[in-house]
Amino acid sequence: MILETTTIMSKTVAFIIPACNEQENISILIHKLNEVMEPTGYAYTLTFIDDGSTDQTLNVLKAQNAIQPNIFYISFSRNFGHQNALKAGLDSVNGDCVIMMDADLQHPPELVPVLLQKWDEGFDLVYTIRKEDAKIPLIKRKTSKLFYEIINNLSDIELEEGAADFRLMDRKVVDAFKQIKESDLFLRGLVKWMGFSQTGIEYYPAKRNSGESKYTIKKMVRFALQGITSFSTKPLYMASYLGFIFSLFAVLYMTYIVYSYYTGQTVSGWASVIATITFFGGLQLMILGIIGLYLGKLFVQSKNRPNYIIKETNLPG
Ligand code: UDP
Ligand code: MG
Repeated sequence: MILETTTIMSKTVAFIIPACNEQENISILIHKLNEVMEPTGYAYTLTFIDDGSTDQTLNVLKAQNAIQPNIFYISFSRNFGHQNALKAGLDSVNGDCVIMMDADLQHPPELVPVLLQKWDEGFDLVYTIRKEDAKIPLIKRKTSKLFYEIINNLSDIELEEGAADFRLMDRKVVDAFKQIKESDLFLRGLVKWMGFSQTGIEYYPAKRNSGESKYTIKKMVRFALQGITSFSTKPLYMASYLGFIFSLFAVLYMTYIVYSYYTGQTVSGWASVIATITFFGGLQLMILGIIGLYLGKLFVQSKNRPNYIIKETNLPG
């Protein structure tokens, strides 16, 4: 019995928290995490990834580290994005499990003990599903819903609607993740794809504590395209099908042209010619764009650049 408690006690939980201009939120989050972690008896570390913040985020982290030695930071040389910040965290921390969450308190710290309980039950990966909530702006809810519909229809993996980057990963999942060398990361998809014993829990997101969302519409569209093109070649097939269907129409139209020629009505074709040219022009550009997206991915991957550059860190090792 005593032996069992000591093994539980010696397990460590490593939190990784990307933070881009979150100076007001950090100390509140730390306070809340301390509150929920103390009763669990686990040893824990909090590693913040300062993703090119232009405010006092890094200084706040240094000050917090002086008060509480289990707080660490990794500071990037510039903004590399949320997904790369998560990767940096996964690459750098120790711990028998890793919990990743946002710095803005939208991922409720009260849920952490539930994640840990599922881990205790033997799950290697505990993910969370964000429930629809009036606190999240309508436009964000709708675009997010659309995103999951598109991604599930187009790709070869099945993502639950509202899957969030708030999850617990056992050490063996983290080690497996570190083997993945992809420049264009889409964590939600990758984690699902990795397998292991997974379970999900639902939560209602809180309102952002302070500051503004860093996911602008432009970034969200980019993120969605990244998700789709990371997990599927279906859009490439779709492009070919579309091309085929329209060529078929063109052939049918050709018979109409020949017919008009022989019946002497050939002058009255201006409108339809312009319509056809612009329509096919647009279609070709779209299909070229799809192909270009994949080619661009190959290009970026082939350069083999690191996903992020660390400017400074206080992590040991
Ligand atoms: N974030 C980051 N780099 C970025 C954008 C966001 O590290 O380029 C962090 C941000 O500080 C927050 C989390 O990722 O902790 C989620 O971002 P945000 O709250 O802006 O997104 P939303 O919740 O609105 O989708
Ligand atoms: Mg947020």
